Amino acid sequence: MKFLPVLFVSSIFAHPAFAAIQQTKGDFVDTFRQLDEVLPTANVYRTAGGEPGHEYWQQQVDYDIDVTLDESKRRLTATQRVSYTNNSPDTLRFLWLQLDQNIFRSDSMAERTTVFGDASRRGPATDGGGGNKPPRLSLGELRRQQFMADNELGYQINRVATGAGRALDHTIVGTLMRIDLADPLEPGESTTFIVDFAFNIVEEDAVRARAGYEHFPDDEREGGNDIFLLAQWFPRLAAYTDYEGWTNKEFLGRGEFTLEFGDYTVDITVPADHVVSATGELSNPGAVLTDTQRDRLEEARTADRPVFVITPEEALENEREGTSETRTWRFEAENVRDFAWASSRKFIWDAQGFDQGGDVQPFVLAMSFYPKEGEPLWSNYSTASVIHTMEVYSRFSFDYPYPTAQSVNGPVGGMEYPMITFNGPRTDLQDDGTRTYTLAEKRFLIGVVIHEIGHIYFPMIVNSDERQWTWMDEGLNSFLDAVAGKEWDPDIPWKTEPRDIVDYMKSSYQVPIMTQSDSVLRLGPNAYAKPTVALTILRETILGRELFDFAFREYSRRWMFKRPTPADFFRTMEEASGVDLDWFWRGWFYSTDHVDISIDRVWKLRLDTKDPDIDFNRRREEELDKPLPLSVQRDREAGQTWVARNPDLDDFYDENDEFTVTNKERNDYRKFVAGLEDWERAAMERAVAEDANYYVLEFSNVGGLVMPVLLELTFADGTSERYDIPAEIWRRNAKEVKKLLVFPKEKELTQVVVDPQWETADVDVENNHYPRRIVPSRVEMYKAPDREGLEYRDIMQDIKTELKEYDEDGNPVGGDCEGEDGASADVSVGTCPEPELDDEG
Ligand SMILES: [Zn+2]
Repeated sequence: MKFLPVLFVSSIFAHPAFAAIQQTKGDFVDTFRQLDEVLPTANVYRTAGGEPGHEYWQQQVDYDIDVTLDESKRRLTATQRVSYTNNSPDTLRFLWLQLDQNIFRSDSMAERTTVFGDASRRGPATDGGGGNKPPRLSLGELRRQQFMADNELGYQINRVATGAGRALDHTIVGTLMRIDLADPLEPGESTTFIVDFAFNIVEEDAVRARAGYEHFPDDEREGGNDIFLLAQWFPRLAAYTDYEGWTNKEFLGRGEFTLEFGDYTVDITVPADHVVSATGELSNPGAVLTDTQRDRLEEARTADRPVFVITPEEALENEREGTSETRTWRFEAENVRDFAWASSRKFIWDAQGFDQGGDVQPFVLAMSFYPKEGEPLWSNYSTASVIHTMEVYSRFSFDYPYPTAQSVNGPVGGMEYPMITFNGPRTDLQDDGTRTYTLAEKRFLIGVVIHEIGHIYFPMIVNSDERQWTWMDEGLNSFLDAVAGKEWDPDIPWKTEPRDIVDYMKSSYQVPIMTQSDSVLRLGPNAYAKPTVALTILRETILGRELFDFAFREYSRRWMFKRPTPADFFRTMEEASGVDLDWFWRGWFYSTDHVDISIDRVWKLRLDTKDPDIDFNRRREEELDKPLPLSVQRDREAGQTWVARNPDLDDFYDENDEFTVTNKERNDYRKFVAGLEDWERAAMERAVAEDANYYVLEFSNVGGLVMPVLLELTFADGTSERYDIPAEIWRRNAKEVKKLLVFPKEKELTQVVVDPQWETADVDVENNHYPRRIVPSRVEMYKAPDREGLEYRDIMQDIKTELKEYDEDGNPVGGDCEGEDGASADVSVGTCPEPELDDEG
């Protein structure tokens, strides 16, 4: 009901023509109602089966860009020549471009609408406080505000002109720019225009953007070094689509990008000692690489393990100096929807060929670029994870179609672009000069490389609309990266199982997965984890691997290098699996219901035989099994009843009770049997002879989300078996259902467990047990904390404290380490023991 358009609500009951639409009566909720009325109407561009239609089209946008990095000013200056081909059936009088750098302007919509205490922006959250506590501002947030105030950010658009150089009218609207064409662009026509632009690059660590520079002040080189990660760096065409027209929605920072495919030639001019990694293939290696580097790249093509193109020692040597000369790296990329690059003199570079086979792209070069700060984690796992990702993802979708796949270390935690990804994990420098890392950092590296390389499939090739639907790329990709992670090493806790989403599913901050990206609360669980779990359940529990994998591959192939919408995904998965999944999309993607199926009661039934000599006796036994009323029991024990004291008065009814059988009942039974058809008598006789166990199981759906009811049945003989009931059992009553199960006489049911393997993200597993069980849990000891507050200080004593200087490890400069209970140990600076953290630290 909640999906009915609002306009029906007032008239639905009054107007007979709308009677067919009414789906709700009393408590009835139609959880299996088909989604057709919610999904867009099929047309010649998108079929009702979720495929590109016979007149499917998309625009083609080719770029030729010259860009120069001014390292000392941390500024990009560029000119781009864009060739736009209108494949739509519409005439275009203007074009929209995305000016993403304008999000950093102090007057941008994103800056002006950031809410205090809101974690919605990618970056450090401010804390609105609560109760008696003052609100808080993190040091990171203060640094961000200072950086934004100190720097002039956003695009400087120097020229917009036709290919022939004639100025074009253009209007900047926040993070968008409209270019008014000199002549209308008819269907099938192309036009060329030029945009000259420049901007100051943001410091990633200060601003927390999706790209930027990272400064390394401690490098030996005077003034230190930077790693530059450049993305959303050139004015990119907004997508023009069959379902929305121009996708010109303001960039608020969260919802990512809606882009067109095209071919790129990009000339990147950087300091001569920089190493550049970029979307595409390097087309002038002779101009920028040494002979040794080119030989090593050749060697890497057939190597079993990554080969250093630039060794750690060479990178260390390189980062010590600097140069005033420049060099231009030329990259070319075909059929990509974006272009990103990275540049630094700090990069170690390794490479390994991936022999994929097939016709599409038999050979792919996997490469990683990272500073010494990523070692030894990166040389061990980065390029290996790149190759592993392609192996797994290709099996689920299509062969990796590009010549390179790269992983670059820098300040961005994780971002994806065609053929290139930015990944953040680092290692810690210890006092003895070695570098170490935690299990979490190792998991982060392998996990983030798989995830970001996986994004080259979704959404860089299966080009979904990221600005609208984060789940379409993050959800599908997180689902597959969970598969790939487990195929890498199932012993690493990837935290992608159904049980990992239950806290979110029952929370008050849940919104439907089908919510526009910028409005989602808690993006991680909403757009990553919940769709991952949903698809995992679809694959492992509802469809099974064979049907799911076929349908998912079909979706990937249908929409490879095309632009799918949510409806195309939903429809293809149904179309290709042959299973109606509307209830599943409705529950998991359009609602905030959660899974909580309870088994409330189990009845054991015994079939009456109709034979009074059997049935009357059974009923007498049942009566005797009931507890005697306490008063009757006590009167009997006292032996003071009339009949006890006067046994001589016993009569017929003291020998016979209400269950005594007479020939009257026996004749009725004989008459009944004689009147049966042969088949009726046979069925009855067999049922009586078998005397099977009949059980009625009562379930209630506490969470609201309809799901299969997965049962583990245990019997008195010690055996157990699975009995899975499809979700359709809830189709007439989504709140409570009863199910009859029949077992042979010797199979006596002793226990029922719902979802024994925690497959369905059921939020309360205790009501899954019949009979209920004692719940195992744990309790911690704790020590009451000392009182806090200004008035609880012993100022009379504290006033005597000596003033000290501290180093960055928190040790006092001058030699004394503070031990416990104030005692000092005489240890030289830098070797003070780390303070011990308690368990909660
Ligand atoms: Zn992602």
